Amino acid sequence: MLLHEQAFQLIGEGIVLLVFLIVIILIIGLILGFILVRRNKMLFPSLIIFIVNVLYSPFKSFVGLLGLDDALVDNIGIEVRNKVNKSKFDEIPPEDKIIVLPHCLRSAQCEASLKETGIKCTYCGKCAIGIIKEKAEPMGYKVFIVPGSSFVKKIVQQNKFKGVVGVACHVDLNQTMMALEKFSPQGVLLSPSGCFETKVDVSKVLETIGYYEFRDEQKKQLNDSEAIDDDLEIKPSK
Ligand code: SF4
Repeated sequence: MLLHEQAFQLIGEGIVLLVFLIVIILIIGLILGFILVRRNKMLFPSLIIFIVNVLYSPFKSFVGLLGLDDALVDNIGIEVRNKVNKSKFDEIPPEDKIIVLPHCLRSAQCEASLKETGIKCTYCGKCAIGIIKEKAEPMGYKVFIVPGSSFVKKIVQQNKFKGVVGVACHVDLNQTMMALEKFSPQGVLLSPSGCFETKVDVSKVLETIGYYEFRDEQKKQLNDSEAIDDDLEIKPSK
């Protein structure tokens, strides 16, 4: 066999071996992801994060080839980061944390205006944004309502913070958590997601930001449970 034929054969064998290895890694990632998402058990989190970060596109294609919804890969990424970052996030005081909400949560009748730092909510109560802001800001959080990812970059450049909570659809949330890894990100998925008048589980966001512990502490100090407004109802649009 000629030298160049041997070289081609070697390269071919190398590629087959590499593809085989990647498939094995993806199978491991999928099994660990299933255990995490379905059983709520986290095994080898660093390996899962590595697979979701480095093999994001092949992982999505692989999951799709198996006939599964490729959003599963994003959900695995979000879940694993939520769990890995939880204790570090909770240690950061609210004054050093921000909340980033998507503008698609707004009611169709929202009258808030768009400013340089995002949407300026007037707390009309017709969507989840006003409710979350009203509870989070007295705790010390800064809340931003963003119309797109370019605003997230601006927020990161213009603000000093150590922790972040994001609400978004699965792809945006996973990729933003990936990009903001050093801020111990916590994420809550929109449900259902979409582009207009989306929804989020408000109590899940409040639980993530530690609102219920804060409220209980306030109640103890005030010694008057009536003094705290616990209404999470969104006003119906007319
Ligand atoms: S609560 Fe929602 S709908 Fe009302 S002003 Fe704020 S963002 Fe707009």
